[in-house]
Amino acid sequence: MQFALVENVVSEPKPGLNGTCKCCGTPMVPKCGRHKIWHWAHKSLVHCDSWWETETAWHRGWKNKFNKEWHEIIHFDTETGEKHIADVKTDRGLIVEFQHSAMKFEELESREQFYKNMVWIVDGCRSDQNAFLFDQGLAGPISVNPDTYSLQWFGSSKIFEDWMQATKPVFLDFGSENLWRLVSFNSATKKGVVELIGRECLVGDITEGRPLAQIGPAELSSNLTPPLPPQADSPQLSLWAGGPGLK
Ligand SMILES: [Zn+2]
Repeated sequence: MQFALVENVVSEPKPGLNGTCKCCGTPMVPKCGRHKIWHWAHKSLVHCDSWWETETAWHRGWKNKFNKEWHEIIHFDTETGEKHIADVKTDRGLIVEFQHSAMKFEELESREQFYKNMVWIVDGCRSDQNAFLFDQGLAGPISVNPDTYSLQWFGSSKIFEDWMQATKPVFLDFGSENLWRLVSFNSATKKGVVELIGRECLVGDITEGRPLAQIGPAELSSNLTPPLPPQADSPQLSLWAGGPGLK
């Protein structure tokens, strides 16, 4: 983790410090090596949050775009007592989760149900070829403002298929200055639609609490040129009915 409590003060890791976990209150030790980013680790070696993902430079780079007071916020469910550590929670209550690794659908669903008001920012570059293949398959724009593009996915990765199961907005980061919100994806044809948003624009929108998702498959199919997003009988579309893409 980026922060632990040192004498009750939220602190970043430095050699020689002793900390306690903000979430579970157990001892934490600073890990300040050369290879991994500096972080706090539970002395017990067991992380108290089963959803926690080992942080990479990608995670830390993203988190540091936001106010540090919003990092690693403990989120409670007052009814069940369940608690988890949100990567970022803004002062308006929006949770931003940065996800590098693939995740089972059950966990994705649980995290969305737990946090409710949230968006995902997903590392699209966990496979070396993904960014290249994404560029190869992109065509358009097929609409302007919002700027949407069609996508033919040539890769073997299930990144689009998997993230299409999300009911909260998903922004894919392929390492360029732009991010891509996943609007639709048909796993049978491997065709989809993505919406372009500048990296810094997204950070500004999240920080200022502006609406993040402007268009969903229903709008696309009614007023855009082909290639069309999933048809009305496709399972993908039903996931979007009244979903966050339209809010
Ligand atoms: Zn803990």
